[in-house]
Amino acid sequence: MYVGLGFCAEHDEDLQQVAFAVKLVHSHTKQPPRDLEFAPIEVNIFIQHCSYLHLPVEDIRYPQEHRHIDPLRFCELCWRQPLPGRKLCGYHAPSDPMLSGSDTRKAAARYKEGVRQKELLENAINRILTREVTRFHDSLFQDQMLFPEQDIAAWLAERRPAVWRELGHAQHALTDENADQIILSVLHDPGGLSYKATSLYRIISAHIQSHPALIWPMLLRAEGWYQSRELIEKKTRW
Ligand SMILES: [Zn+2]
Repeated sequence: MYVGLGFCAEHDEDLQQVAFAVKLVHSHTKQPPRDLEFAPIEVNIFIQHCSYLHLPVEDIRYPQEHRHIDPLRFCELCWRQPLPGRKLCGYHAPSDPMLSGSDTRKAAARYKEGVRQKELLENAINRILTREVTRFHDSLFQDQMLFPEQDIAAWLAERRPAVWRELGHAQHALTDENADQIILSVLHDPGGLSYKATSLYRIISAHIQSHPALIWPMLLRAEGWYQSRELIEKKTRW
């Protein structure tokens, strides 16, 4: 509400006062007082572009039975959902070890590596966003910037090449009908997480499968993460 008011209060002093009051109430209705958390840029751009295309994203954003869960929240260091009440996911939280697949390094090592990668991740996300937003506007809103309903494999291969590579053999099984399911099974696997976190991941994956358009911000963050990881690996090889 504070951000919304901020946008329209630019030339209206009364509205500016209301926005300030909202900020104060938000801050002091928790002990100790909390800071505002701003949505990451890709989430704002996603919502903005859904509105250009008249897609009612705010109507479908939250799962019906779990309206406190936001599928557009992300770990600060990657694309996964943060653990309940935390800013990091199970892969990156140093005190909440997750033994995922072949990556059995200590959680603390993954956290440190994630922090080192953070700036590259943000740069990669900004680079992809700038290119896609420019392309969308140059095409007068005709470009398929958001997650498509058809020809998903071709869209992934062109616009999310690092995620596409990460799908490996699953590429061959991917169809327009099962694409979201396959992507989520690779990117959003709750294996190794606590019971509470597992059910959170399941609720989000089920919700995204009902509304595949919502997968766009997660895919963008994952693409940025894998691209920046590839950059680091190239550098260390040299
Ligand atoms: Zn993470």
